[in-house]
Amino acid sequence: MAKTVIALRDLRSLPIPRLAGEAPQARMADRRARALHDLRISVTDRCNFRCTYCMPKDVFGPDYEFLPHGEILTFEETVRMARIFHGLGTEKIRLTGGEPLMRKGIERLVAMLREALPAVDLTLTTNGSALKAKAAALKAAGLDRVTVSLDSLDDATFRAMNDVDFPVAQFLEGIEAAAAAGLAPVKVNMVVKRGVNDQQVVDMARRFKGTGHIVRFIEFMDVGSTNQWRMDDVIPSAQVAYRISEEFAIEPAEANYTGEVAERWKYRDGSGEFGVISSVTHAFCGTCTRARLSTDGQLFTCLFAQRGYDLKAMMRAGRADEEIRAAVAAIWEARDDHYSEIRTAETARARKVEMSYIGG
Ligand code: SAM
Repeated sequence: MAKTVIALRDLRSLPIPRLAGEAPQARMADRRARALHDLRISVTDRCNFRCTYCMPKDVFGPDYEFLPHGEILTFEETVRMARIFHGLGTEKIRLTGGEPLMRKGIERLVAMLREALPAVDLTLTTNGSALKAKAAALKAAGLDRVTVSLDSLDDATFRAMNDVDFPVAQFLEGIEAAAAAGLAPVKVNMVVKRGVNDQQVVDMARRFKGTGHIVRFIEFMDVGSTNQWRMDDVIPSAQVAYRISEEFAIEPAEANYTGEVAERWKYRDGSGEFGVISSVTHAFCGTCTRARLSTDGQLFTCLFAQRGYDLKAMMRAGRADEEIRAAVAAIWEARDDHYSEIRTAETARARKVEMSYIGG
């Protein structure tokens, strides 16, 4: 796994844009005028699924070396980071991974984040396998919503894609438990891969139309460097929307907020909506307001990054909040990445950090 990290000494040489302790600007912006609005925190690099497009078994096998426990941010460190990012404008936090529900005591982390940041929008992305057991506790701890990942309603296809033989029926129980607990609307992510599950797009739309749950069809992306990505395997979102439009009357809907990842489509009969996430064919770098904190406390400013910034080292070296905040501000203000806009066959082959580590 490529895990190039900028060391503490390099962070020191970054320009500090304001005095320590000085209040942050109302809206900090990067070199492309993008504000910092969202923080995605990977709480574990482990997952109980081996989705073929994310953590293929031949790479993430029994000998794969996941992060040792001591390298993973503690809950206290995670909350400290969240507070610092909140002070710089972050209003939305998503817990992800790896599989976040595999992190022991995840409900406690949710409760700690909620107590520290009562107004923040707090969400979590999960493969759903432990949702039935944990949905109520997560809601009670203060989680607002969940996004779940379901690549097919066809049992054989789903079992093959998660590659651990996990059945659709059990997954659907998890969604219902989430909705019953009030973690709604539930968003359902489907990664669409040509020849694997693309024939099931319309079934997926039909199954969730009218339920209040929102399906989001995601283009297969060249994240990491182990998933054998090929452009030929990508089904453009436009085709997904077209196929659904052949079955149901749909129309485009306004984004809920600037920087929303999914483009929204509404069913004209008022029975809900679905979204498409088109990182490959319709790059949205221009409105990307997301920072990512890896399981071991490295800050990444792009999902397709090759290097991160070691904030854990700063914390463990005893740096004050103001110093860390100034470093994060400097990193964000120097940010110029726009990978999806300049993707080529060569960049797609480059060694990038894995999604399970950086957080999806
Ligand atoms: N384990 C959780 C889950 O399954 O939702 C959270 C982590 S997962 C990396 C987050 C999201 O990234 C999932 O919805 C997954 O389908 C998506 N994802 C992973 N690899 C992808 C790829 N190569 N292209 C598009 N989406 C991908």
